[in-house]
Amino acid sequence: MAEIELKHVCKTYENGFEAVKDFNLKIADKEFIIFVGPSGCGKSTTLRMIAGLEDISGGELYIDGVKMNDVSASDRDIAMVFQNYALYPHMSVRKNIAYSLKIRGEKKDVIEQKVQEAAEILGLKEVLDRKPGQLSGGQKQRVAMGRAIVRNPKVFLMDEPLSNLDAKLRGQMRVEIASLHHRLESTFIYVTHDQTEAMTLGTRIVVMKDGVVQQVDTPQNLFRYPANQFVAGFIGTPPMNFMEGVFDYKNQQLAVRTNDGIAIPLTEEKVKHALERADVAGKAVVAGIRPEHLRLLKDGEEETAFISGEVDVYEMLGSEAIVYVKQPGNENRIIAKVDADTHLKPGDRIRLAFDLEKVHVFDKLTGQTIT
Ligand code: ATP
Repeated sequence: MAEIELKHVCKTYENGFEAVKDFNLKIADKEFIIFVGPSGCGKSTTLRMIAGLEDISGGELYIDGVKMNDVSASDRDIAMVFQNYALYPHMSVRKNIAYSLKIRGEKKDVIEQKVQEAAEILGLKEVLDRKPGQLSGGQKQRVAMGRAIVRNPKVFLMDEPLSNLDAKLRGQMRVEIASLHHRLESTFIYVTHDQTEAMTLGTRIVVMKDGVVQQVDTPQNLFRYPANQFVAGFIGTPPMNFMEGVFDYKNQQLAVRTNDGIAIPLTEEKVKHALERADVAGKAVVAGIRPEHLRLLKDGEEETAFISGEVDVYEMLGSEAIVYVKQPGNENRIIAKVDADTHLKPGDRIRLAFDLEKVHVFDKLTGQTIT
């Protein structure tokens, strides 16, 4: 069992900088939780407070109901895997993996058995006698994981463990970490600034900004129901398109009239939602639409709400293409995902229709989601 709870946890560094503010979260046993956010948002600081590597300035940390604020790192039954692996260069892979067991005074045959098990799980059997300098980045990463696994900790903490790997290897290791979580049945807390990593690995994701938790939810819910404009823009690639405008409310009909003169009518459900949450008439808002929710219109095809513009860049990704569209008098390009067989080229004039069910509206002033 490893249930972790943070109650009003905060961190103020000695220079007075508040890196983490009022962090509240309950992590269930065996969950795979991700802390994600831009550089400096306080994710590593939070992880290090859980590990016991950083003092907690305020609030409480519980593991399985026991307050941990003043328990030393070595007594927390937590294993941490760092970005730089922190391997001992003069020791073989076998000795690196065995190290924590050896200092714990485990018997030789127990150590060997655990090392073999970890090597089997991680595909390291062939390299057990090599030194870290003779390993690839991915192998070093797995040795670092091996060192954590043999300790059989209640909780695994990982701080950007894949950031030193190239894109392909990162993709492979991501799958391995997911499968490891499945097999070990431990609680994982994983820090990354990479939203793709967060979305593919986490059972729940904590999105942070400036030391403040913005939203805690499943990957799917973060994508579908972002709590605010920051989360909406951070989750999803390419990012959501934003268009500033005002609410236009007439005859029970509600639309966003963008500064570019596009009227985006809201669906009945969204109107109801918006009326419940905001004083709508004339309100300054930001409409958001994801690139995958814009559809290329054929010549002569009619639609109520669309953007027209000129193709600036067309990126062919193989299975799909990304088109960047310039609108007259607007510096921001609209991004759309289109079929790979559309064969657009720079200069083409196109129209993109909104999937009206998928339009988001944010309060321009506060950034909070209205609908
Ligand atoms: P990154 O992705 O860049 O690692 P992060 O979200 O993990 O970022 P933290 O390392 O938690 O961010 O740092 C949060 C903030 O606290 C940053 O603004 C950082 O500069 C600041 N900070 C970190 N350590 C200290 C320290 N010892 N003293 C003062 N400020 C610190």
